[in-house]
Amino acid sequence: MIVGLSLATPGAQVQIPLADAHIHYSHDVWDMLPPAEAIKILRKAGLKKAFVSSSSDEGTQMLYEQAPDLVVPVLRPYRRRGEISSWYRDETIVRMVEERLAKNHYAGIGEFHVYGPDADRPVVRRIVELAAKYKIFLHAHSDIDAVDRIFAQNPEARVLWAHSGFDSPEDVAMMLRKYKNLWADLAFRSEHASNGKVDPQWRKVFLEFPDRFMIGTDTYAPDRWYYVVKHANWSRKWIADLPRDVGENIAHRNAEALAQWALQR
Ligand SMILES: [Zn+2]
Repeated sequence: MIVGLSLATPGAQVQIPLADAHIHYSHDVWDMLPPAEAIKILRKAGLKKAFVSSSSDEGTQMLYEQAPDLVVPVLRPYRRRGEISSWYRDETIVRMVEERLAKNHYAGIGEFHVYGPDADRPVVRRIVELAAKYKIFLHAHSDIDAVDRIFAQNPEARVLWAHSGFDSPEDVAMMLRKYKNLWADLAFRSEHASNGKVDPQWRKVFLEFPDRFMIGTDTYAPDRWYYVVKHANWSRKWIADLPRDVGENIAHRNAEALAQWALQR
């Protein structure tokens, strides 16, 4: 749950630019929110960049076509809602991902959901290999065990850890210490800040790893699109509570750097 959103005030100061690392534009929102309208929301939120993935990938392509300057395309290995817990047992996913990667440019593969030993299944292994082949990141909604398994498969993998695993700041810090190529998004979390103040435990982790965190809304369901602007304003408030450099990194630079690394091919 996002709490405290109603307290967000845009303020008169210059808006901190943001990059939102966790936007989905899946099939069940297309009618309610056509591509041009979705882009309007992202721009209204003051986003410089939005990492977009969708079930199916068609949604991402539609947004990218509308705003190539804004949208960072990420390839979700799902064709429709409901494949979250079946995709890693489904060989046809591999073919779909291979075809898409050959055809379009992506900064990453994800967001996908995999936990524990399932991360060692052949389909997931192939996805990790494809990310390495195309030099793009993996956006993993995973537990610590699955992240460990992905890095065991390829220590050079670049992983964006969705929702920072919904883990504690101490455990997130432990993982960031362990893996230099691990980034973490703060999507759909709110306990790291309240009323514009950063939680002391999280502050320690943000200061220890100023290059690794990103913000994200997570528009996993159609109604989540209503929160994109609110989430941006809420994020600006707590980001302003950090040292300026660290705040700007989390606000947009870390996401931009990862996207640039992936898309510079
Ligand atoms: Zn998501």
